Parts: sequence; structure tokens; C-alpha cells
Amino acid sequence: MSLNETSQKIIAINAGSSSLKFQLFSMPDEVSLCQGLVERIGLADAIFTMKFNGQKVSKTISIANHQQAVDMLLTSLIEYRIVADLKEIQGVGHRVAHGGEYFPDSAIINDDTIEKITRLSDLAPLHNPVNLTGIHAFKQALPDAKAVAVFDTSFHQTMAKPDYIYPIPYEYYRKHGIRRYGFHGTSHKYVANHYAEMIGKPIADLNLITCHLGNGSSICAIKGGESVHTSMGFTPLAGVMMGTRCGDIDPSILPFLAEKESLTLSQLNEMMNSRSGFLGVSELSHDCRDIQQASKTNQQAKLALDMFVERVRAYVGQYLVKLGRVDAILFTGGIGENSTDIRESVCCSLEPLGIFVDVNKNRSKSTIFSTQESSISLAVIETNEELMIAKDVMRVSL
Ligand code: AMP
Repeated sequence: MSLNETSQKIIAINAGSSSLKFQLFSMPDEVSLCQGLVERIGLADAIFTMKFNGQKVSKTISIANHQQAVDMLLTSLIEYRIVADLKEIQGVGHRVAHGGEYFPDSAIINDDTIEKITRLSDLAPLHNPVNLTGIHAFKQALPDAKAVAVFDTSFHQTMAKPDYIYPIPYEYYRKHGIRRYGFHGTSHKYVANHYAEMIGKPIADLNLITCHLGNGSSICAIKGGESVHTSMGFTPLAGVMMGTRCGDIDPSILPFLAEKESLTLSQLNEMMNSRSGFLGVSELSHDCRDIQQASKTNQQAKLALDMFVERVRAYVGQYLVKLGRVDAILFTGGIGENSTDIRESVCCSLEPLGIFVDVNKNRSKSTIFSTQESSISLAVIETNEELMIAKDVMRVSL
């Protein structure tokens, strides 16, 4: 039986190094049955949280590894009568960080898929091995369910070569696959498609700029539903400045600092990934809400905020040029969805380009917050990567 014939239960999984997020859907009606999170996996005081039917359960227990986390979540689905039998779960969608050039689309998980995801661990050492742990744990627990890998990189495989090759010796692309891959693909794709559905136009007819602004941020230029450029690169460190990540900087800062501060490569990597961005500039916090609050009195927090807005604007400007005609600029992610001030700062300065913000609509959290006169629509779309993963399980396993 194909998955599409009747209503099916599909679970979307996002495994991190010490966490496992999940959401169970009834598909194709797209109803969320429950969602939850296992945190601090590997510790005696791991935390399991699950929300369903307006209820919330939370337990602190010892969870040694991802297999135990998966077993615990499946047991809880039965215990709280979300499913009567685990066989009801016919599909599992796994978020996988890096699909390299192997996966321009989501893929059914088989030995070949697993072998390729393993091979790509070199490019995403912190993520792909953990994603594989989740895949193996579910294979063990639900051997009959269809398993699908949904890659953060797939959506951006439509970029043209001049947009993804770096101007360094070409042999490093050939030998090591060094190129722009882009990330957050599931979110950019979801938001773009959701907007097209919302306004009742085919995605193929739309040119969009999607701004996923959160702890990690990336911007994407989408032409007719296909990514043509995105701000993240070989890794999710590139592009706009983020919570703790620096985004684009002059690469020669690294050898300079290595010498002056006697930093090793791994210390430099840690500096750029964990001690930069909002945190590095403000010397206060990585969290945008904290920075916004502090910016009223603290100059460095204000500087961090101004830099963030400026860097988002720079990409929006670049993508307006890249796309030529743009129908809408879409905002998503924790900052994009919630910070009216940042949306306003980014968009108000675009007035010379005929882009006009309706300040009242923006502040009253209206989905579309541009004026009637604006040549380009501005909209806030709540991202839903888990639903996109569940939809891909249905599509790919037909
Ligand atoms: P995410 O990684 O998408 O979960 O986004 C997390 C970021 O969103 C954090 O920096 C939060 O401070 C930020 N955020 C959430 N709510 C707001 C808000 N109301 N105003 C500004 N930033 C927010």
C-alpha cells in the first residue's frame, strides 16, 4: 500500500548531539498529533518533554544514548494513547544536515543512502554522525516504517556553478568538495511554498527572497521555486552574522589571529562558531531579545543590532539584483517571526526601491505587512520544518 491512500502517521525527527526533537503528524491532513524534545541525552538527568492535546508532560530521567531516547519517546506515545500500536507509524522523516552533491532531493533511507551520509560526515562532523545515530535508532525500533532522509542542503542544489564555486584553487573542489552548499533548505522551501499557496499563485511564477533569521540565520534567493543563491556556504558559518557565529569575515583575520594570539585551528573554529556574532560584539548575550533590550542603554549591544540589520539588508540588496524582479520578501525564524523592530529596520530603509512597510500591520503581527503601493510584498511566514519533513516522507515514499 502506498502511503498516500489513507490517513497515515508520520514522525519527523531532528537529532542533535545531545538532543532529539520529534513531531508526529497525521498525513496528508497535516494535523500535528504531538511534539516533543529529549534533551541532555547521555546524562543521568536528561529531560523528556512532550505536548499533545493541550497537555504537557515533562520528566527528568537518565537517558544513556539516542536509542534509549527513541525507545522512551515511542513508549510515551503508547502510554499517553497518542497511538494504540507503534505499527500505526508508517513513516519516519529524518532531518540530515549534509547531503553534499549526492542528494538534490530527500531520499529513502537504504544502505546506499546510509553509506553516502556517512561519507559526508567529513563535511558535517558535528551533525551527520548524530543524524545517523537517530536513523539507526529508529530502524531498530520501527523496522517496518518507511524511513526518509531530508537534507538541509538539497534545496540549494539548484544553484548555478558560478554561484557555488569559491575562487580558490579548483582542485580543492575536485578533491574535497569545497563549494557553497547552503543550509536551512527545508525552511526556505517551506516558507516559499506556503506563501505561494497563501496568495494562490503557482510557485513557478514567483521570485522570492526568504530571510530565515534565528539563532542561525540565512537568506535565500528563490526563482520559480528553486534556490538560486543562499548566504550560508560550505558550512552554516557563512553569510549574515548570527547568535554566536560570525558569518562572512575577511579570511586573513584567521592567520593573523593565529599568530598574534597563539590560537590553534580548533580554537579559531570555536571562536568563529561559538564566541562571535551577537555574543562576540555585545559581550553580553547571543540572544536577540537580550540584545534588543540591552541596546536601549548599552552601545555595544546597539552596535551588534545595527550590524545584524545591515548585514541582512546587504543580502536582500544583493538578491534584489540577482533576481531582477522580486514578488515578495518573506521573514521567518525566531527573529524574523517575532521581532517587529528588526523587520522594520530591515525593510523601512528599502523605500527608495519602492518597498513600503505598513508599520501598523507590522506591529499588529499581520502576515502581510507591506502597503498596497509597495512594489514588493513583505510577509511573515511561520516556518514549519517538521511538517515539510513529513510532507517529503509522503512524497518520496510514494
Ligand atoms: P530560532 O533559532 O529560530 O529559535 O530563533 C531564536 C532567536 O529568536 C533568539 O535570538 C531569540 O532571542 C529570537 N527571538 C524570539 N522571540 C523574539 C522576539 N519577540 N523579539 C526578538 N527576538 C526574538
